[in-house]
Amino acid sequence: MSFADLVIKNGPVVTMDAERRIAEAVAVKDGKIMTVGYEPEVTRLIGPMTEVIDLAGRTLTPGLVNTHDHMLEQGISSAFVADIRYPKARSIKDIQGIMEGRVREASPGQWVLGHAWDETLLEERRFPTRYDLDPFSPENPVYIKRVFQMGVANTRALEIAGITKDTPDPEFGVIENDEGGEPTGLLRGRATNFVTDAIKWTLEDKEKAIRQACSDFHSVGFTTVIEPGILADNIEAYRSSHRKGGLTIRTLIQVGFLRSLDDARWAVENYAVGGDDVLRIIGLKMAVDGGVGPRTALFYEGYRDRPDVHGVQMIEQEELDEMVHLGHVNGFQVAVHAIGDKAIDVAVAAYEYAQRKTPRLDPRHQIVHCYFPSEDALRKIVELGVMVNTQTPFLYFLGDSFVEALGAERCEECMPVKTLAERGIPVGISHDATVTQPLPNVGLYASVARKTIRGVALGTGETVTAEEALGFYTMPAAMHCFMEDKVGSIEVGKYADLAVWNFNPLDVEPERLLDWECQMTFVGGRMVFTRE
Ligand SMILES: [Zn+2]
Repeated sequence: MSFADLVIKNGPVVTMDAERRIAEAVAVKDGKIMTVGYEPEVTRLIGPMTEVIDLAGRTLTPGLVNTHDHMLEQGISSAFVADIRYPKARSIKDIQGIMEGRVREASPGQWVLGHAWDETLLEERRFPTRYDLDPFSPENPVYIKRVFQMGVANTRALEIAGITKDTPDPEFGVIENDEGGEPTGLLRGRATNFVTDAIKWTLEDKEKAIRQACSDFHSVGFTTVIEPGILADNIEAYRSSHRKGGLTIRTLIQVGFLRSLDDARWAVENYAVGGDDVLRIIGLKMAVDGGVGPRTALFYEGYRDRPDVHGVQMIEQEELDEMVHLGHVNGFQVAVHAIGDKAIDVAVAAYEYAQRKTPRLDPRHQIVHCYFPSEDALRKIVELGVMVNTQTPFLYFLGDSFVEALGAERCEECMPVKTLAERGIPVGISHDATVTQPLPNVGLYASVARKTIRGVALGTGETVTAEEALGFYTMPAAMHCFMEDKVGSIEVGKYADLAVWNFNPLDVEPERLLDWECQMTFVGGRMVFTRE
């Protein structure tokens, strides 16, 4: 008899299989699930070389599947951007201390960034200047961002960005000068673009960011992520990370952002669907509209505070139709960002056009966000087999701003995940990192409680159970990745992608879900994270 490499026992093991079975133990062999079931049938596979993990009251779930987080961006922010928010930094002196530490760790010439100060909370009650940053950063460009569209660059960063005392202010921006006419380093509005456009990351930087992102995502239980909207150099960074063994998350790439039909032609000429079970290109990414906060999400009805504003349509219907069709006929999943009801109708019409013109079996196109689908759109989403990726964590973190923009009544209908699931639409939830942090505890809580961070209930008619919410991170989610036969549930033959948690989320009051915490994560049977 052959023994297991790894046995995890003393469950509950929340399998998330089709029958939603709860087992007691799991055996792993060669990176895959060998057996899952009652303790005796699993523990008989323990041999002299088997590693045994006792859950001792903790809970095992499948490794979580994330259907839309910008992983590279998250890695860059985590690896290279220092947190200088209050109360991490209570003074300019604190900011200097943190940034000096980062400069010391950086390679010569590398950008060193900080995020995000607010002078009203700083002890000195003034804006920092480049003279606060220069003493410890003669060689490295340093840029510290304020909470909104403002930032301070050191002298080296101003040089690289080409800002001198003679640089005129851009439209909607100000380069702050002192009495002598010299820039102080403080940039307002669009003037910040001079610096942010000049920030360049090397391949080595990106590989480091990807390693960091893997470790960040593993620490909250993720083992598979759809990386939406990356192009040439960034795709190359994933490929080289994978070759060097630095990619430990199964990563599915949607190539983009594609802004025009020409972009789409470029993408299908340069990329094809394919890869292995760690790194694979699956889709193309494009966008119809913007966001609710900036009043750019596209609605039939105007915004509450600005009834004449309906948002923006970034691609006309005819052009989007051809873009989607091009991806469709080349075998790509086409993911379209659409938030407002009108934008969703536009996206759905494009999928309908593609499917009519060239019928294709199971293309699994994806609407990204899908916050306000009309009844008509819902019907067509079902009919066309379109999948929905949405962000219930936004209800928690950004819900109050949604209410401000649209009014409470319209927000009741926002992200109708219960309706979507009831109609059999495969729903995946995500955090659109770096918009919000990839925190599945918040994802579960927001899906179940539907409350904002200030405790305001938002559309409680669309509340789901914790089990359904966990499904949005596991089994339906794996279908978005075309990997439902390999990940997303704990079943014999699937990869041993697993996560251990402090408690069983199916067994607690909604309010406790915010305390749900990952303890260990495995990818292909290999431990990639453990909490000390
Ligand atoms: Zn996104």
